[in-house]
Amino acid sequence: EYFCRILPKIELHAHLNGSISKNSVCELLKQKGNTSLKMPHFSKETFNLETCFEMFKFMHQLSNSEKNLRFIVKMVIQEFFEDGCTYLELRTTPRQLNNLTKAEYVELILEEIKLNPHDIFVSLLLSLDRRHTAEEAFEIVDLAIKASNRSFNTGVVVGIDVCGDPYAGDFEIIKPAILKAKALGLQSTIHLGEIDGREFEINSMLETFPNRIGHGTFIPKNCLSEVYSKKIPVEVCLTSNVLCKTVKSIKDHHIKEYFFLEKHPCTDDKGIFFSDLSNEYVQLVLNFKLTKQEVFDLSKNAMKHTFLDSNIEDQLQVKNRIFDKFEKFRD
Ligand code: 5GP
Repeated sequence: EYFCRILPKIELHAHLNGSISKNSVCELLKQKGNTSLKMPHFSKETFNLETCFEMFKFMHQLSNSEKNLRFIVKMVIQEFFEDGCTYLELRTTPRQLNNLTKAEYVELILEEIKLNPHDIFVSLLLSLDRRHTAEEAFEIVDLAIKASNRSFNTGVVVGIDVCGDPYAGDFEIIKPAILKAKALGLQSTIHLGEIDGREFEINSMLETFPNRIGHGTFIPKNCLSEVYSKKIPVEVCLTSNVLCKTVKSIKDHHIKEYFFLEKHPCTDDKGIFFSDLSNEYVQLVLNFKLTKQEVFDLSKNAMKHTFLDSNIEDQLQVKNRIFDKFEKFRD
């Protein structure tokens, strides 16, 4: 466990509002004072994908002011840093709050990333929700494109994500916006095959050439061959999948079947699943008997799949500095 904690790590699948820690929740509730707002509690047995989305509703009530949002970004970054994370690719769905437009929501988060005092590199992905209208999806893509031209030190958007309740929405509606983002050079990751029986949707998602796949739990055989041939890496969220009951146990996780795919462990929503990135590595070691060398290689390998662009000078420098950290750790 100690090795997993001190290991330099890379987080590529973390939703901002799902990553609010219990301590931060308590602090925010305290500040809100006399309120009937309470964190919903579900036992391991009653937890599933649907209850997970009830938790997000609660988290969104906590992050509904500029002050709270700033606090949340600050704390999430600090907690990933304290957990030994070297590079964090944070994602969030831009929301319009009482006195904040979606553009201001994004700007505020980038500002907090810029102010980050810790020795951790942070960039941002903007998420499209499956329930978005085409207009909303295009609006977010436009925000992402605009913020992708910034320098790394000022906080930069390096790609887009597609998430949201897999039982809801219609991927076809937001697909044109994703195609626009791709045509303009943004990288993308998509929550794909989170639930069973979505072959048509998975095929359609693959047509947009995602650079990474979130979860990929239920990928039918004929789609899997395409994933293999395009060598699309999978963001693996062990604890999340077990708690959401899309996977029976970590030992049964599809990670063991994807022999030829690149994969890297991620937290998904550390505030909801109470599992940090170190713990995701610990679970891998315990369940799949990995050696220290294998764990190190797995962590370092995630570098290949960040959305940092080597053709952009300051992003290349960040990549090199992360690489140095791994080399130093090995020594
Ligand atoms: P936010 O985007 O507001 O910062 O983070 C919370 C949102 O991320 C949720 O409302 C949900 O749309 C998305 N999200 C978080 N975890 C998951 C997950 O495991 N699956 C899917 N499909 N979406 C998720």
